[in-house]
Amino acid sequence: MIVASDNHERASQAQPSSWQHQLSHAIRDPKLLCQRLGLDDAWLPGAQTGHALFEVRVPEAYFKRIAHNAPDDPLLRQVLPLGDEALARPGYVTDPLEEADHRPARGLIHKYAGRVLLIASPTCAVNCRYCFRRHFPYSENAPSRAQWQEALDYLRFEPSITEAILSGGDPLAASDRQLAWLVNELEAIPHLKRLRIHTRLPVVIPDRVDSALLGWLSNTRLQKVLVLHINHANEIDPAVIDACARLKAAGVTLLNQSVLLRGVNDEVSALATLSERLFEAGVLPYYLHVLDPVQGAAHFDVPDDEARALVTRLRDHLPGFLMPRLVREIPGEASKTPL
Ligand code: SF4
Repeated sequence: MIVASDNHERASQAQPSSWQHQLSHAIRDPKLLCQRLGLDDAWLPGAQTGHALFEVRVPEAYFKRIAHNAPDDPLLRQVLPLGDEALARPGYVTDPLEEADHRPARGLIHKYAGRVLLIASPTCAVNCRYCFRRHFPYSENAPSRAQWQEALDYLRFEPSITEAILSGGDPLAASDRQLAWLVNELEAIPHLKRLRIHTRLPVVIPDRVDSALLGWLSNTRLQKVLVLHINHANEIDPAVIDACARLKAAGVTLLNQSVLLRGVNDEVSALATLSERLFEAGVLPYYLHVLDPVQGAAHFDVPDDEARALVTRLRDHLPGFLMPRLVREIPGEASKTPL
């Protein structure tokens, strides 16, 4: 896969402080993660079990925001593998959104009218334990430049599509050279108006928002929307706020989507503080998703009734423009379903 090998080549030449270096030197050993956080040895067997199913990956810039010797830390819970991930639960499946039924071309998912999703990178900077794509067959959906032509042709001959969404993995894990090439191809398609990027990289490695990224983002004629993925206010440190300011200065609209996660943000105070911090960083709360029933993540589930009650109480604490919309994604539906 060209994108990955290009990244690897760049990572090996990268400066220690560069985002490529940080990406390639993320913590990928559950024992090291537990040791460096001072966790009791009892956490290790479960961490190794979960790691065998979906590998641990935590970049240093995110690791530094996790409290020491605090197993309930809301950032740690998002990245620490657990033995519970091996438990089979009825209704929890490997492809909860049935994306396999919506791939008309390699690397392209077309579920909703007017917009398509492009798998611009098969990797992420962080592996979130609740990820609905933790079983996604990236090897079958990671096009090279030549193979992107099929997806680009699909877009060229489908005038109803006005928005291209870069997704992954994390699309910003791809090199700027690859992304600039892809965006250049996209903006040559006259009926495309918007470029949307779903990413967690500016949050977990804020140095990703560098001059190369801002260069191609600033230059495209497409309207730019970047949807961050932040679940807890502790993820928003000064470096993240700076990264958001750089993106806004490049003309990017910033939104956030969260997932409602047991033990991470399933309290009114956590959700209210998250919305407040997002707005301080120049980001509008957009969606609060209930968990997609992906195999290995059932321990994060918050039942729908409890989710609705939480959001009802949240309204007493926030102005309307800071209220995220509580939604579920149901396979086959024409849009996200409000709860
Ligand atoms: S960054 Fe996004 S795609 Fe990657 S593991 Fe986390 S939730 Fe999944």
